[in-house]
Amino acid sequence: MAPPIVVQVVVDKPLAQGFDYLWDSERLGSAPAIGQLVELPFGRSNLIGIIIKVGTHSDFEIDKLKSISSLAPLPPLDPAALRLINFASQYYIHGLGETIIPTIPQMWKKPENWEKIPQKLIAALDKKKKNPQQEPSEGFIKEVDLNVEQKQALEKLRQCSSNKKEFKAVLLQGQTGSGKTAVFLNWLSEVLDDAHAQVLLLVPEINLTPQLERRVRAYFPDKKMVLLHSGVTEKERGIAWYEAMTGKAQIILGTRLAALTPLPNLCAIVVDEEHDPSYKQQDGIRYSARDLSVWRAHDVKVPILLSSATPSLETWLAAKAGRYEYIRLDQRAQGASLPRVHLINTRDPQSHYSPGDVEKPQSKSLITKTLAKAISKNLEDKKQSLILINRRGYAPVLSCSACRWLSQCQQCSSYMVMHKAGALTKKSVLSCHHCGLVKSIPSHCPDCGNADLKTLGQGTQKIEDAIEEMWSGARVLRVDTDSSRSSKGAEELFQEIHQGKVDIVVGTQMIAKGHDYQNIGLVAVLDADGRLFSQDFRAAERLFAQLVQVAGRAGRSGKEGQVSGDIYIETQYPESAVFQYLLRHDVDGFLSHTAGERKEAGLPPFSYQALVHAEAKSLDKAIQFLGALKAELKSKGLISIGLRVYDPVPKAVMRVAGTERAQLLIEADGRKQLQEILEFVDRELRANSQGRISKIARVRWLIERDPIAI
Ligand SMILES: [Zn+2]
Ligand SMILES: [Zn+2]
Repeated sequence: MAPPIVVQVVVDKPLAQGFDYLWDSERLGSAPAIGQLVELPFGRSNLIGIIIKVGTHSDFEIDKLKSISSLAPLPPLDPAALRLINFASQYYIHGLGETIIPTIPQMWKKPENWEKIPQKLIAALDKKKKNPQQEPSEGFIKEVDLNVEQKQALEKLRQCSSNKKEFKAVLLQGQTGSGKTAVFLNWLSEVLDDAHAQVLLLVPEINLTPQLERRVRAYFPDKKMVLLHSGVTEKERGIAWYEAMTGKAQIILGTRLAALTPLPNLCAIVVDEEHDPSYKQQDGIRYSARDLSVWRAHDVKVPILLSSATPSLETWLAAKAGRYEYIRLDQRAQGASLPRVHLINTRDPQSHYSPGDVEKPQSKSLITKTLAKAISKNLEDKKQSLILINRRGYAPVLSCSACRWLSQCQQCSSYMVMHKAGALTKKSVLSCHHCGLVKSIPSHCPDCGNADLKTLGQGTQKIEDAIEEMWSGARVLRVDTDSSRSSKGAEELFQEIHQGKVDIVVGTQMIAKGHDYQNIGLVAVLDADGRLFSQDFRAAERLFAQLVQVAGRAGRSGKEGQVSGDIYIETQYPESAVFQYLLRHDVDGFLSHTAGERKEAGLPPFSYQALVHAEAKSLDKAIQFLGALKAELKSKGLISIGLRVYDPVPKAVMRVAGTERAQLLIEADGRKQLQEILEFVDRELRANSQGRISKIARVRWLIERDPIAI
């Protein structure tokens, strides 16, 4: 009798190990392969798992092993994909099973569908063939039409990819409007000359994809492109993933969730807007899609292009040091000049309306006089204005004028935001942006009974109201996640702006992302200081990147020699480095300044960090749990030179939905040192936990490597 076949399988549980099962070749109809998706009995239920080992031996009694129940109608994940996921699991200290299974679309995770799937796939693919989507060719710029600088950049890129099977990381840095996209799409079109080649194109957010999708299709009308982002339906995603992992799709365009897709013929990767924080996954395995993509390119020996107007400090320093190739685009492609930056010092009384002012609007103005004048002028010039405020809702807090009552959320250590009646809710409500709790607005103060409740601060709705009042003839549109979730989707709102149906747009940062508007003459940023004094050391870097992106929206239509637009920034601290470098459009100066500060303080990228998160019913428990961990590391002599373990602290928003949250920061001079201590922490915590919940104190914990928000 032949020896039994034993397979080791990982499942989607917070467990470090795999499990042995028997493989019945006769019943399953084939030999097992590593990377195969299977169904298996687990405890009292059935789960799906991935085979990671095949052999004839088990450390357990063979007779007691259960058998694999069924096999998905899928080829095994290719070895390179398995290496990538294995690396992610080790680097981010996350179980292999709970890393790998979430990368597989839902459609493939239902064994009850497995028998029907092959017919479904054929039907879906046939339907696509019969109705080829006719996309308008938008934004297609042929190589001959590139400007000199773009052509040089393309030439350099070609040199980077001329040696087949060689890893090269390239930073393409160029201001908004310099035509980076045209350069990398022309480059990819050459890579795709090879009929089997696959390219992975990552973009930060879903609202960027419709415009980019049309543009990419215009470049590659006869290549198969699939989209992988959270906006496509489960079925579409299942099919797109299948086409990618079987090598049928050549172009994979997606957000961070596409980064772990198996791509057997991967030949090049592009990470657009590489600095964008949305590349960082913020739940489950907290990976950086950009960083994993660089690892992946290195592993399979292909070029990777990181593109940005404001590179992350990490990438910029790597390019400066020569570890990455460095390509610059310093001109705006269509010859438009840079917008003029104006800083409005809100501490200066001159910038505000004064009581006796003849022009003073009826209600107390929420907009400075300087800005109001500029908006009026822009309206006269028949140009659109964008007004940005990074807070949705009407006002961030409701307060009592008689006592000290504030609209604190019962479940979180944050305030409930007032939202006025609108498309989302029939009446005005208080809403918590952290836990989602919604309450009606009290008619009287819950503490003292006073009926005079006042709003503090302002959000998009309040600014919209103020603007409608000040410019009653103007067409005003609000764009934020509230308005885009209502009857009209985000794309429709953006179309209204493109078609010139609005004069003034009020919104959050989401308006500024990736959309090329043609007639914006003015961009204003209200209350830009909100994030300047955050405890997070990356706040200034992020604000700078956002402001540069916002500034890039002004006057993309500007013709040669014309001044293309104005950006107004309201701040109490115009002297801050962020604003001063912005005034001069000096991205490199700002990055160099920031690098100096970080180096002096020993902060990333000059050191490496990780957080241990703890959540419990009481803050004491969470802090004690982390304190005990720190004491353990100390007593074991693990806190050596070059390694710092800080005291546990409550998180910035300490309580969310009734759970108290704390964190412990671990910092090391080297990656290896950090890896070792994190592996120890993981083993230590797992030994006393069920999954990731500690057995005695019931504290939920999670390790996060390279956090981007501290
Ligand atoms: Zn009161
Ligand atoms: Zn809440």
